[in-house]
Amino acid sequence: MIKTNFVPMEEVLKIAEDRGIAIGAFEFWSYEVARAIIECAQELDVPVILQCGRLEINRMGGMEETVMTAYMACKNATVPIALHLDHATTFEDCNEAVNAGFSSVMIDASALPYEQNVELTRKVARRAQPFGVTVEGELGRLVGEEGDIAVKGPESAQTDPEEALRYAEETKVDALAVSIGTAHGQYTFKPKLNIPRLDKIKEKVNLPIVLHGGSGTPEDQVREAIRHGIRKVNICTDIQVAMGKTYIETQKKQGFKYSCQNLWGPSVEAAKNVIREKMKMFALM
Ligand SMILES: [Zn+2]
Repeated sequence: MIKTNFVPMEEVLKIAEDRGIAIGAFEFWSYEVARAIIECAQELDVPVILQCGRLEINRMGGMEETVMTAYMACKNATVPIALHLDHATTFEDCNEAVNAGFSSVMIDASALPYEQNVELTRKVARRAQPFGVTVEGELGRLVGEEGDIAVKGPESAQTDPEEALRYAEETKVDALAVSIGTAHGQYTFKPKLNIPRLDKIKEKVNLPIVLHGGSGTPEDQVREAIRHGIRKVNICTDIQVAMGKTYIETQKKQGFKYSCQNLWGPSVEAAKNVIREKMKMFALM
């Protein structure tokens, strides 16, 4: 295991609970993006969660390479930082992340029948928690893409509050991702968060609640959800869109000359503008 200075995600979620805010979990896929996230967290003095899934990890060369990349980006930071594995679907991936030095893992077995979801999630929790690694589980499906599966349908896919209580007790997870009306990726419909359902889940389950599919969800709805107990919001697509669009526009500018700064500098600034705004929103600033 590589020496790191990441804190268990549970700890930053405790800070969120104490302050009645949410912590941003920002997807990174390179040193540059990780550094952009950390610089914004330092500027605003807020805890932050760096996260990535298999796709991003493979881009960085593997689990240990990812841990090193994140560590290099935040070794001088003073805000609490958790390193989280997003949307793992196998025990093996979670185990590898624990061994490599992640401080948190999400096991997403939400595509499986309830009993199998519990069994796999419990197995991951048994492995990870003794090492101080936080475990996030998911119950209910988000519309959009979850791995290879396209999830359709409205409220039928949302998290059932009674089942959430049973799931929390049976799996012993430290954080629970719920489905209350957001989607992964870019929206093809206007999202409407189901706040009454979130209230019912919060009444039953004494765990930090996680909102996936934060990108593109209207700000007023996100703020409302945080006031009703959401403690972690995942952001990925918004950063990619900002960077991608800026990258194209930058090269179209008259007199543009290629250099690493000319080509990538504006994209990183665009990413930071998005990240900063999200951090302020999540901290209810
Ligand atoms: Zn997600």
